Amino acid sequence: LEQAHSVALPPPATFSFEFFVPKTSQGVQNLYDRMDRMYDLNPIFIDITWNAGGRSSTLTNDMVYTAQGALGLETCMHLTCTNMKVELIDEALEKAYKSGCQNILALRGDPPLDGSESTGDFKYAKDLINYIRNKYGDHFNIGVAAYPEGHPEETDEQLILKYLKEKCDAGADFIITQMFYDAENFIKWCSQVRKIGINIPIIPGIMPISTYSAFIRRAKWSQIVIPQHFLDALDPIKEDDYLVRERGTELVSDMCNQLIKSGYVNHLHFYTMNLERATIMILERLKLVEYIKDHDVIGGDVLPWRKSL
Ligand code: FAD
Repeated sequence: LEQAHSVALPPPATFSFEFFVPKTSQGVQNLYDRMDRMYDLNPIFIDITWNAGGRSSTLTNDMVYTAQGALGLETCMHLTCTNMKVELIDEALEKAYKSGCQNILALRGDPPLDGSESTGDFKYAKDLINYIRNKYGDHFNIGVAAYPEGHPEETDEQLILKYLKEKCDAGADFIITQMFYDAENFIKWCSQVRKIGINIPIIPGIMPISTYSAFIRRAKWSQIVIPQHFLDALDPIKEDDYLVRERGTELVSDMCNQLIKSGYVNHLHFYTMNLERATIMILERLKLVEYIKDHDVIGGDVLPWRKSL
């Protein structure tokens, strides 16, 4: 019996942190420090976004190289294919491979801002996934994006699900979703995802609330619904950043608990926006940092898409 008790239990949820590439070299240096500090909280991985549009996003590549190769952080590289010739994709994948990175979030990227057609060699994310699988076999764990409240370019829910299934059939290992605050809609959406035979982990994208204006702006930008109880709680205190963050932490933590309890979720992916405090406040409230320390869950070995979890 004693032995059975000493076996590490699976945590109620593991977590990961997303960062975007800063504009200045000082910003990049600061971000390395922040990533390194936040890694002490034991995320299972961190990921770094890619600037879509075909400028070869060498900085993402460089940062992945440093984070994975030099700092030893389990890293996932975003890679978009809008306006990307296959040579640029090859360069990016080769550098990621050499750094020891084994996780790619394969994306199409938003279409060119000037309304022109993409000049890239791949039309959809699924084409990029096919390419990575053919070229690298099982070396990379491949993630895909999903949109529980729909995608701006497609309103037909069933078609969106069908396209998601195509990405999974092309060889995806995990799904990360767009941010949302409507837990009930997300849970319903998960049941539809499972119904059409998608069995890989669904990882919800969690956006902490740091200020009222950023909360509203990001929700509008992502075209997601803000549930009335969020507005009722935050609107009366919107001028007070401190109170908004406290109350926002409670609201988002409650949502995370609801997601975990639904049984569809065992990993939370935080859009940190390169900031520490709002994400850490949620983790503290959920007691996930202590849980992971107590149960000796180490990043990399327990990636949510590894079958062992
Ligand atoms: P796809 O899955 O290829 O879908 C693109 C559109 O085409 C959708 O409207 C879809 O419904 C439609 N479609 C798909 N397949 C077909 C088909 N066979 N026939 C017809 N229509 C089809 N953007 C960045 O620039 N950099 C990032 O780092 C980044 N990270 C992201 C991370 C996450 C978790 C998420 C959710 C999004 C991220 N994005 C990022 C945004 C993303 O690139 C855009 O939302 C983009 O418009 C769609 O990318 P996708 O990979 O989902 O494309």
